[in-house]
Amino acid sequence: MPELPEVETVLRGLEPYLKAATIKKVTLNRKNLRFDFPRGFISQLEGQQIIALNRRAKYLIFNLSNGSNLLSHLGMSGNFTILDPKADKSGIKHLHVEFSILAENGEPHTLIYTDPRRFGFMDIFSSEENCKFLCDLGPEPLGNGFNAIALVKIFAKKRTPIKSALLDQKNVAGLGNIYVCEALWRAKIHPRTPVNKLIDENNTPDERLEKLVQAVRNILQKAIKAGGSTLNDFHGATGQQGYFQHSFDVYGKEGKPCNAQNCTAIIERITQAGRSSFFCPNCQKA
Ligand SMILES: [Zn+2]
Repeated sequence: MPELPEVETVLRGLEPYLKAATIKKVTLNRKNLRFDFPRGFISQLEGQQIIALNRRAKYLIFNLSNGSNLLSHLGMSGNFTILDPKADKSGIKHLHVEFSILAENGEPHTLIYTDPRRFGFMDIFSSEENCKFLCDLGPEPLGNGFNAIALVKIFAKKRTPIKSALLDQKNVAGLGNIYVCEALWRAKIHPRTPVNKLIDENNTPDERLEKLVQAVRNILQKAIKAGGSTLNDFHGATGQQGYFQHSFDVYGKEGKPCNAQNCTAIIERITQAGRSSFFCPNCQKA
């Protein structure tokens, strides 16, 4: 499932083609993805210029010249790809949406959205506050709003396991299973640790919580630099694969030796809220 670094990779790949480009034509090959396309989807997009592309959490947002915005979530297997308008698309499977684009320099492009599992969706919204997908999201993990002091306020008196708390998009937006497992290993925190245990008696963040914030930021920045992680079929806007999966220390490494210096333990896997957590029982003591 694409997480923040993968969505950021898609955004950066699309930007050179789509920024200031005009949407000439939209073709829907079905009436729904995870949800129905909103009423008037095509007419609200055709003829609009894309003023800017943005990311919020795991959402891609295209700001349009009429003041509205196209929102897209890639779900489990959604991909945007830029094609030459003359390209043969007959062999492309699960092609659900097609945009004919005229770039600012007059060059035509075709943008396609493919999604085998159809967990992705698209919507149109006027403002973030009125968008049901965006209005409750927590701070961006790479922004200033995500810091140990802010986490103390959210975590005080709660006993939620840290793993679940970081996956809750209301606490921090854009993290998923992979990068949470990796960040917890780096911060040496067991995934089942209750969040209130990461707060000192005088209501200040303990050292591990400070380390965790840094670990989250570092891992996301490194993953973005690597073009994200390609586990199943994720790719960037021009088809390139991410390679951060080669840098995982714990995710999917059950039974493998821990990478930490002077640690001889073996990575273990437990299930939390139906999802796998990978951790080192020696580096991340319960
Ligand atoms: Zn270890």
